[in-house]
Amino acid sequence: AKNEGRNCFKYFSEELTRAARERIGTEFRLRQAIEKNEFRLFYQPQLCVGTGDIVGAEALIRWQTSGELIPPLKFIPIAEETGLITGIGNWVLNEACRQGKAWLDAGLPPIRIAVNLSPHQFLHNDICAIVANTLAETGFPAEYLELELTESALMKREKEAIDILNRLHDLGIHLAIDDFGTGYSSLAYLKSFPLDVLKIDKSFIDDIPMQSDDMEITATIIAMAKTLRMQVIAEGVETPAQMAFLSSRNCDFYQGYFASKPLPADEFESFLKQHRPL
Ligand code: C2E
Ligand code: CA
Ligand code: CA
Ligand code: CA
Repeated sequence: AKNEGRNCFKYFSEELTRAARERIGTEFRLRQAIEKNEFRLFYQPQLCVGTGDIVGAEALIRWQTSGELIPPLKFIPIAEETGLITGIGNWVLNEACRQGKAWLDAGLPPIRIAVNLSPHQFLHNDICAIVANTLAETGFPAEYLELELTESALMKREKEAIDILNRLHDLGIHLAIDDFGTGYSSLAYLKSFPLDVLKIDKSFIDDIPMQSDDMEITATIIAMAKTLRMQVIAEGVETPAQMAFLSSRNCDFYQGYFASKPLPADEFESFLKQHRPL
């Protein structure tokens, strides 16, 4: 038994070493990824539940390296911990605004573009100056930019967060709370933040219509958002039954595979053209 324990430990430490090595490798390659132009933005359409019109797109990062397309959950957490997120996040913001402006100039229907901001980006940089400069440099109108923030970013330093949000709001951009319902937010808490959009987390949508609890929670969140005069969008919508439910509860917008997966810019552009109202 003693031996077994030792083997087990050995196995465990080898695993740890491999994980640590992988992490260091990722961090190393991540440091060069911007210069090597390895990041891509994909765009996932956001549509009106009632009319099916496209109202926006969420910009989602991908990392194209050594022939692989790496999903964000494999590197964003490392970027966040190492502070590399600052450079990556600035790249995302700039690229989304540049692309948005190009689509506007090409005469495509104007849509909002939503960009994810990580807690580090939000709290450890002069994010207001960065956003203002990016809008000025790219010429993308502030009214078409939306920033998605998670509860963890807003909860960490509440007073400071409210101050930053107010300054961002004064620039004329939209502010959204992402993954709503997965943290500790309460109604009272939401009221003190200048937020325009509430995104219902996919985990509440997944089991509609099988789970009546999830349906009640979703309906309550929609009603609450309306009381607070926020627009409400459901994420991760995949089925007609989910759509029917959201429509019956007057959810404003939705996003999910039911309409489209996140698309590379050129494919998103085709999608947008096909959905152009006549
Ligand atoms: P998120 O902000 O909650 O983004 C939504 C995720 O759900 C995306 O995964 C999207 O592809 C996926 N999704 C959308 N609709 C459906 C659906 O109907 N079914 C299923 N199964 N999935 C759906 P993705 O692109 O892998 O991004 C994962 C997370 O990585 C994002 O979660 C966000 O937290 C983070 N992320 C992505 N891009 C950025 C970025 O530019 N900056 C930062 N800070 N984080 C990012
Ligand atoms: Ca998001
Ligand atoms: Ca989300
Ligand atoms: Ca989510």
